[in-house]
Amino acid sequence: LLILGIDTSCDDTGVGVVALQPGGQVEVRANRIWSQTVHAAYGGVMPELASREHVERIDAVMQDALEEAGIGVADLGAVAATSGPGLVGALLVGLMYGKGLAQGLGIPFYAAHHLEGHIFAAAGEAELQPPYLALVVSGGHTHLFDVVREGEYRLIGATRDDAAGEAFDKIARLSGLGYPGGPAIAEAARRGNPKGVTFKEPMTGQSGYDFSFSGLKTAALLAHRAGAGGEDLAASFQAVAVKHLLKVTLRAAHDLGRRTVVVSGGVAANQALREAFGASGLRAVFPGKGLNTDNGAMIALAGAAAIRAGREPGGLADGATAYAPLANV
Ligand code: ATP
Ligand code: FE
Repeated sequence: LLILGIDTSCDDTGVGVVALQPGGQVEVRANRIWSQTVHAAYGGVMPELASREHVERIDAVMQDALEEAGIGVADLGAVAATSGPGLVGALLVGLMYGKGLAQGLGIPFYAAHHLEGHIFAAAGEAELQPPYLALVVSGGHTHLFDVVREGEYRLIGATRDDAAGEAFDKIARLSGLGYPGGPAIAEAARRGNPKGVTFKEPMTGQSGYDFSFSGLKTAALLAHRAGAGGEDLAASFQAVAVKHLLKVTLRAAHDLGRRTVVVSGGVAANQALREAFGASGLRAVFPGKGLNTDNGAMIALAGAAAIRAGREPGGLADGATAYAPLANV
């Protein structure tokens, strides 16, 4: 069964194709992304501009995805699109496009949760068999879920302030390393000394599973003002951020008896983070190349999981929602 996945939750128009085999295995056949550049001049995403760009691009991105998969639109067996959380106007474009396509083709439509998409982005790499932990580290989330059974997500910890990706972006900006901040910090960190700037690890006193990044951001700003070099700042911040993410996750895994952790979202592209989790003793599963940041293939993978689990397809009434906590979908 070939599933088309669409994500237009923010400023990337993503369309992907995933093949779901009769045995339940999944394989990514295409993953095309158009990253909007109109927002650069504003220093942040302008919601209305994002919606308009999605409208203009989505058809071309879908044609690219079909071409990459070597299929025609009539070969599709199901369509999935993100319904939330995200920018409502942006979400609506992909959601309505997906619904219309599914209805026109007479195939089932699945509304997907963006965070479930981020988690299932890793499903092409390994079989995700609950129970496992899922750490979503992205531009808007630093959320730790205990996936108790298929479709049941218990939020056990989250950032109390900034998301991890937001901290990467802000620290890159204040130290003049450019945008997007994650890759810029990672690149500069390779030449920096991780002990060059002293950062206090956040929330060492807690017994729970929350995160905090705003203190690191402030410390970075002060260090920058005191003359710390961008490379040392990048290496030192990256090291303490990774340490913090890993320590909280390890505590949760120990307390709950979990052995597998799925780490996904844009920050999961970070090589230092991958190495640290890989050497942690946990079975760490990451999304494949191009599937960490927002994309359509991850939504097709979430659709495949829904189909595999026998969930009912959505109706045309599924609306877009800006705020949508992931719990027991
Ligand atoms: P959300 O899913 O929470 O709504 P988002 O979709 O905007 O947020 P993603 O696209 O998943 O977020 O991830 C973007 C974030 O990932 C950015 O903050 C970016 O800096 C970060 N990022 C990307 N690559 C890396 C990297 N190599 N190291 C660290 N961070 C990275
Ligand atoms: Fe995202």
